[in-house]
Amino acid sequence: MDLTYPPEAEDFRREVRAWLDAHVTAQWRDLGYDLEGPPAWVEAMRDWNRLLADAGYAAIAWPVEYGGRGAGPMEQVVFGEEMHRARAPGTLNPIGISNIAPSIIQFGTDVQKQRFLGRMLRGEDIWCQGFSEPNAGSDLAALATSAVRDGDHYVVNGQKVWNTLGHLADWCELLVRTDPSVAKHKGISCLLVDMTLPGIEVRPLVTITGERSFNEITFTDVLVPADALLGPEHQGWMVAMTTLAFERAGVANLHLGLRTKIAALIELAQETDGRDGRPVACDPVFRQRLAALHSLGESLKLLSDRAVSNELQGRPAGPESSLAKLRWSLLEQSVSELGCAILGLGASTSFWGREHLASRGLTIAGGTTEINKNVIAERMLGLPRG
Ligand SMILES: Cc1cc2nc3c(=O)[nH]c(=O)nc-3n(C[C@H](O)[C@H](O)[C@H](O)COP(=O)(O)OP(=O)(O)OC[C@H]3O[C@@H](n4cnc5c(N)ncnc54)[C@H](O)[C@@H]3O)c2cc1C
Repeated sequence: MDLTYPPEAEDFRREVRAWLDAHVTAQWRDLGYDLEGPPAWVEAMRDWNRLLADAGYAAIAWPVEYGGRGAGPMEQVVFGEEMHRARAPGTLNPIGISNIAPSIIQFGTDVQKQRFLGRMLRGEDIWCQGFSEPNAGSDLAALATSAVRDGDHYVVNGQKVWNTLGHLADWCELLVRTDPSVAKHKGISCLLVDMTLPGIEVRPLVTITGERSFNEITFTDVLVPADALLGPEHQGWMVAMTTLAFERAGVANLHLGLRTKIAALIELAQETDGRDGRPVACDPVFRQRLAALHSLGESLKLLSDRAVSNELQGRPAGPESSLAKLRWSLLEQSVSELGCAILGLGASTSFWGREHLASRGLTIAGGTTEINKNVIAERMLGLPRG
């Protein structure tokens, strides 16, 4: 099953393509994505974000009143495809725009929407997600960071970990325990926290790639104004599930980057000489591996198409996002392993060497392999809970 694009989607594609052709110069194509966030890169990304925002393309899924286009799933697919085709940089604020903003739009007060959304859209504020803790990852509801109401403030104490962009973030969507006396899902609240408040300390965690792309954040007697509450007090679980549902919905576009990498791998095999002096692409073992990865990449696209088609027909999102996340993360690892195998000893300092290391975390982030397999076993195969 492949998606058939209706004429309106193709009209939108022409519009987006014309804009991208006119604006994505080499300066933007070569910008890359540098999670360490050196100042010059951050400023360049801000410029790019403003350009997108002025054209109405910074967050096309958001409602028009907040600077989006109210784009449906079909337009979002087309937009993603065209951004990839043009090799345009993404957003400075991926977590804010895709995951946190939908929760602010759904649960925020008018003041919160006014204050946060426009600045987020233009990359003026960067956001991070403060969910995981040393003892609360897959079992997120076990989180222990406490927020005790004291007059018109909450006093926050605790530790968050694995915070992507935490070192650059101006704001954090923070999950805290406001009522320790009730069942664990029921005593959680969500706060929108200014990262410059006294008592907040951000420490980088160096990954196996040697990069400082994520962090641990400690909170020591941090006074957070009570109006930072997002959604009702003690009902932060509902807010968190909204944020995570949007994070999961993002898997629909993951095949784009992956299939681009598989195409690059095929080129690499054609350009690299093997041990017999002929291109690696002539080696039967490498050919088999390339063909297998290509077909798995195409099947991931079909899985994404099915998710979009379900959404278009108003069917609820099912456990397919777990299947897509699992398949994508394992494929990313296989693709980078094959890149290293093609390059041999030279791989360690290459793009593929870095990819190989970076891809290890993909089977953990956004739901681990084991958790996704549990979802598939229970909800797709009908097996009893483990
Ligand atoms: C690249 C990356 C970026 C991240 N960014 C963020 C971020 O911005 N903000 C944030 O809050 N968090 C972030 N995280 C954290 C991520 O959400 C957690 O790592 C993830 O939820 C797993 O939690 P954990 O690391 O505590 O592992 P645990 O939950 O402790 O799991 C340890 C192991 O036990 C297995 N396991 C756990 N429970 C079960 C079960 N019920 N059945 C079978 N096996 C089980 C797991 O699969 C895993 O192998 C990020 C992680 C990564 C790798």
